[in-house]
Amino acid sequence: MVAKGDMVYAWTSDADIAKKAECGGAVTGLLKFALEKKIVDAVFAIKKGQDLYDAVPVLITDPAKVGETAGSLHTGTLLMSKLVKNFLDGARDMKIAMTVKGCDMMGLYELAKRQQVNLDNIIMIGVNCGGTVSPITARKMIREKFGVDPDSVHKEEIDKGQFIIEYEGGHKGISIDELEEEGYGRRSNCRRCKLKVPRQADLACGNWGVIGDKAGKATFVEVCSPRGADLLDKAIKSGAIASEPANPKGIEIRGKVENAMLKLGEKWRNKDFSALKADTWGIINKETSRCIKCYSCIENCPVCFTSSEALKKNSYMITSGEVPPNPMFHIRRFAHISDTCVNCGQCEELCPMEIRLALFSHAIRVEGDAAFEPKLGKPAYQN
Ligand code: FAD
Ligand code: SF4
Ligand code: SF4
Repeated sequence: MVAKGDMVYAWTSDADIAKKAECGGAVTGLLKFALEKKIVDAVFAIKKGQDLYDAVPVLITDPAKVGETAGSLHTGTLLMSKLVKNFLDGARDMKIAMTVKGCDMMGLYELAKRQQVNLDNIIMIGVNCGGTVSPITARKMIREKFGVDPDSVHKEEIDKGQFIIEYEGGHKGISIDELEEEGYGRRSNCRRCKLKVPRQADLACGNWGVIGDKAGKATFVEVCSPRGADLLDKAIKSGAIASEPANPKGIEIRGKVENAMLKLGEKWRNKDFSALKADTWGIINKETSRCIKCYSCIENCPVCFTSSEALKKNSYMITSGEVPPNPMFHIRRFAHISDTCVNCGQCEELCPMEIRLALFSHAIRVEGDAAFEPKLGKPAYQN
């Protein structure tokens, strides 16, 4: 009987999923099992679109199609939580099982606090996350640093601190540290992120800690809730998933890697935030003066759910046609989200004027977090 707190190596018994999956295929196997057994009405996950720089969210109701979503897309920088609110009516009338990175999970919690999604109807299969690379940076980095045509790359992975590509004619890996020193690599919010293992999801799945003959062939699963335990237990009993207890040495290694990643996150926070300290509001004011008031940062924020239309109607700070907007546009936005910014990076990622919005929101949030009790974001998660 599987219980909360268990740590296991797990792998799918479906040969097609195993071929396409990132490691053991336990995530895809569990999603398919949940749909097949009607534990959920639909699966919400990501599949490769035109190429590996194109991550496409998909809602699946046919179990035969779940296999299409296997594999990790590190250059897929989209956030799942707001999509649940905007396009699935917050899962109010539909049970879904979905894959979540730390930021997807935090976004869901924030929306639930605001009654925008129904967490009772969502099974969260968490994936550990070392970070994502924006599609534009990925293409540039592959062309300039790897000396490879980005369109010839058919597989990418992040393993043992390297960004590795497979392309027509070979494969190449370069250390993430080296890439980041030269301005490539993970998005800046991912470098600062400290939610590497999403333990507030129902299950937290990853490849860290899988050693011995199972390395690369099994998924490390940490069972984080009774609901996660129940799903895994049923899948094992039905034969959809095979498992064995995680190797104690593997558990130790996983803990060490996680700690190293947390330290790295702290290092990036210190670096990024200290560069702002001398003149925070001066820097914010200067950068936001490029704003063209497209509202993308508002529309895509998982914490803010005001529509741009409502904002235009109700707020004194919006003067039609005024570009850049009055600085209050940004000050109010930062104030509005400062207690709960989850550092998902979507505002910055999607800003057409490349304003460092995620950095500003995150810096404001962390400063608030240091000053106030109880700590923001607790007890649901800590980021
Ligand atoms: P699969 O059965 O292959 O299923 C993978 C699932 O991930 C699918 O549901 C797919 O839709 C979903 N997915 C793919 N890309 C994304 C995305 N961009 N956002 C949200 N969901 C996505 N594990 C570690 O131990 N250490 C890490 O540093 C680490 N970094 C990761 C970074 C990213 C961006 C992602 C997506 C995953 C990362 N993982 C990491 C998890 C690991 O890659 C595997 O997803 C996990 O081990 C499960 O393996 P699996 O074979 O069971 O997954
Ligand atoms: Fe992963 Fe954190 Fe970046 Fe989200 S913000 S993609 S959880 S590293
Ligand atoms: Fe302004 Fe950028 Fe926000 Fe658009 S996304 S409103 S340009 S800050």
